[in-house]
Amino acid sequence: MPVFSDLFTKELTADTESENFIRQVSAANFSYCHPVQPKAPKLLSYSKEVADLLQINTSNSLSAEWQAILAGAKLAENSIPFAMRYAGHQFGNWAGQLGDGRAINLGNLVVNNQPLELQLKGAGPTPYSRAGDGFAVLRSSVREYLCSEAMHHLGIPTTRALSLMASGDSVTRDMFYDGHPEKEIGAIVCRVAPSFIRFGNFQIHAAYQELDLLKQLADFTIRNYFSHLIPQSGSITKETYITWFSAICHNTADMIVHWQRVGFVHGVMNTDNMSIHGLTIDYGPYGFLDNFDPDWTPNTTDAQGKRYRYANQPYIAHWNLVKLAEAIYPLIEDTKPLEDILNQFPQYYEDQWQNMMAHKLGLDTVSEQDSSLFKDLEKLLAMAETDMTIFYRELAKFDGQLDSVNSLTESAYYNPQSLSNDYLKARNQWFFAYSARLQQNSITEAEKIALMNRTNPKYLLRNFLSQVAIDKADAGDCSEIEILLEIMRNPYAEQPQYQDYYQKRPEWARHKAGCSMLSCSS
Ligand code: AMP
Ligand code: MG
Repeated sequence: MPVFSDLFTKELTADTESENFIRQVSAANFSYCHPVQPKAPKLLSYSKEVADLLQINTSNSLSAEWQAILAGAKLAENSIPFAMRYAGHQFGNWAGQLGDGRAINLGNLVVNNQPLELQLKGAGPTPYSRAGDGFAVLRSSVREYLCSEAMHHLGIPTTRALSLMASGDSVTRDMFYDGHPEKEIGAIVCRVAPSFIRFGNFQIHAAYQELDLLKQLADFTIRNYFSHLIPQSGSITKETYITWFSAICHNTADMIVHWQRVGFVHGVMNTDNMSIHGLTIDYGPYGFLDNFDPDWTPNTTDAQGKRYRYANQPYIAHWNLVKLAEAIYPLIEDTKPLEDILNQFPQYYEDQWQNMMAHKLGLDTVSEQDSSLFKDLEKLLAMAETDMTIFYRELAKFDGQLDSVNSLTESAYYNPQSLSNDYLKARNQWFFAYSARLQQNSITEAEKIALMNRTNPKYLLRNFLSQVAIDKADAGDCSEIEILLEIMRNPYAEQPQYQDYYQKRPEWARHKAGCSMLSCSS
């Protein structure tokens, strides 16, 4: 029987109301609430790596006891389940109290002195469920489960996923909010992270003038997760909060640089979906760019303003950090240091982005002129429909010979027959400049290729691949989930046995629901 501890509930402030009904909660960090008993829980998949991380013994599967815990059917020893209270800005507007509407935290397991929180998503309603039912459907749970693990293996900071369970209950959803509700298979994902604390957890206390709670939560976060920032004296000062905010800005910028590197579009970068640890969190209508289109967003709810489109992600991260700064301001009572840090964000981001782009192009250093090389390439990729992943992966084969460009790039185009003369001219110019730049490179050709191949993934959890796995899982066959999990374990490796998965989005997926368009309904 696993033994949990309860860092969050032990050190922070509980809601005094213990009944589980939907309400506005005041003066609390969290509310106690229990998962709903699932009708017929069934383990569909689990991540061996996360089980190992948690030191869970799995000879060839999770034990029956663990399966019951991960379905919300049984509580582990000392597990005191709770939902967190937080607020947020949604699509730029203040939304007030949000909170864990369908996530229930089970508590921590402590591994190598590091607390790791386990959280069930889709295990039933909480006081924060607002108009929702607290449940989740299979399609969105498969997407969250697979992408959490895929992102981790891509080397991108993310919450993890231990398990995917079917609950045995059906859940009704109107997928496109167009008056066509349907019964879908209910599912539960167990997410794992140091904590699930978001920007919005701080925002709620600032908004409702709960300054004691704001300080309590900030000190809790720093003591447990940013202890390296605490001065020798052991006391947290205004200076500590400032350094902490700076660390959050850097972690967030680093995460976004990774997203841009692989073409990940989160889709719902609301402040309640921003982890205080700089982890990718809350996989909803996310997607990966197939053809490189800076204006693309997978989220149909955002189709008009495209606030959360690929190219806008760094700006939104900055905007969200401004909101976090406003929330923690009462701890510091001085705008200047917060403004200074925020003002440094664009340059810090730009520097990291340039380093990342240099690696994508196999360059060991960044020089003055490289900025235009990088930006011109992005323009070029958007000029003709070009598959981002395939283009960069094939680019590693470019050895400076301009006559090889045609054959190198061919497989990346969605319409290879209709490349315009303007495009071909721009492409020649770019490759000419790149070829010249490569001559300044001080690493060997082999080192260059290795650098590119560990920066540019060969395999990506493309939307259409997930959709194929979801359609099969909906019909009772989870084998494709296992195949994708396996491929995405080594996204930078050649894996010739999975060569078929190194392909552009097929035409059938161009406008299909779940492939290029996703709603928030999940
Ligand atoms: P999201 O857009 O998924 O980040 O969700 C925004 C807010 O809505 C969070 O507070 C969620 O917990 C809540 N929420 C989303 N879906 C549901 C649901 N099915 N039941 C209850 N709350 C939900
Ligand atoms: Mg969320």
